[in-house]
Amino acid sequence: MGDKMKRTIKQLDLKDKKVIIRVDFNVPMNNLIITDDNRIIASLKTIKYAIDAGAKVILMSHLGRVKSEDDLEKNTLKPVSKRLSELLNQEVLFINETRGKILEEAIENLKSKQVLLMENTRFEDLNGKLESSNDPELSKYWASLGDIFINDAFGTSHRAHASNVGIATYLESAIGFLIEEELNVLEKAIKNPKRPLTVIMGGAKVSDKIGVIENLVNIADHILIAGGMAYTFLKASGIEIGKSLLDEENIPFCREMLEKHSDKIVLPIDSVNALEIKDDAVINNSFIADIKENEIGLDIGYNTVKLFKQYLVDSKTIIWNGPVGYSEIEKFSNGTKQICEILKNLDSIKIIGGGDTAAAIINFGYQDYITHISTGGGATLQLLEGKDLPGISIIKGD
Ligand code: AMP
Repeated sequence: MGDKMKRTIKQLDLKDKKVIIRVDFNVPMNNLIITDDNRIIASLKTIKYAIDAGAKVILMSHLGRVKSEDDLEKNTLKPVSKRLSELLNQEVLFINETRGKILEEAIENLKSKQVLLMENTRFEDLNGKLESSNDPELSKYWASLGDIFINDAFGTSHRAHASNVGIATYLESAIGFLIEEELNVLEKAIKNPKRPLTVIMGGAKVSDKIGVIENLVNIADHILIAGGMAYTFLKASGIEIGKSLLDEENIPFCREMLEKHSDKIVLPIDSVNALEIKDDAVINNSFIADIKENEIGLDIGYNTVKLFKQYLVDSKTIIWNGPVGYSEIEKFSNGTKQICEILKNLDSIKIIGGGDTAAAIINFGYQDYITHISTGGGATLQLLEGKDLPGISIIKGD
């Protein structure tokens, strides 16, 4: 992300200015009912700061994907405006347009300290993907609605869209508190970590994590590989893995990593297996070499937990991405819970990158013992890959 610090919201005078804040209100909804409001809560600090600074606050966000007219009704931000209003304890003016006279007049009439939320930016994708393709005309138009632009949508910062990169191209811009905190923690952890740095990589697919492994293997002191992806690594080392998840295409990548970095990569030594992935499955904890032909490996076993613990207790920084087992099903969630339990008792810097791991940790009630739970999925991975995030790169440093 460059070595210069990005300009932050605190460095700009917001008083009486029309301040467009790009937030991430991409919350899960079921029949227009918000099922998890964490993303709204995560954006409050920046919104409240702008209100207190006397800004006229204009909020923009996407919600889901909009591919056809049918998507419009279920992807409206209206329920978000209600929830936000409750959380802020003040009125949030919702405008169900993404352009036009009604929106423009509402913004013109906005008083300092008032908050307006515009409709889902991806409604503009119906007319030729204007938002998602970072259309210059749309970007200029949205920029013309404000005086200052604040990007605080970390979760979309790996995408160059009109509502982040586009507006920032044409307006004086800065990052909000959420992005600032994500950068402070994640960039520091990979650029200047307190060592030893141990990375736990889990989750399903090797293919999604290749870039992260390639980058972190040069930075971390240890990489503990678990979850579904561990079985492709085990297969690459010559072990039969039964019916466990296999990413055949990436066996050569895994083999290369194991050959070059055998000093850093740690693989599971035992596995929790079952014949089927179901709630009442009969489970069998076996050593890796004893996984049967008809078994699926679905979690790390007790011995692997002990082995991983030896690395974790000595680490000063821990980055964890991806559950170590099929944690949505109780019988295969023990490994992930045990890792949470180990982390709970450590004083190290503990960082959780991304969606599924964050969901598991919150679900198991360990969030209070974690230093930082990243709000990004793809964006976090891209940062851990050592790559730039376009939504943040576009914002100048001072
Ligand atoms: P990812 O999105 O790549 O981080 O993968 C997360 C998913 O990986 C979760 O839904 C887990 O249930 C799944 N997962 C973890 N371990 C396994 C495993 N041994 N076999 C199949 N899926 C797994």
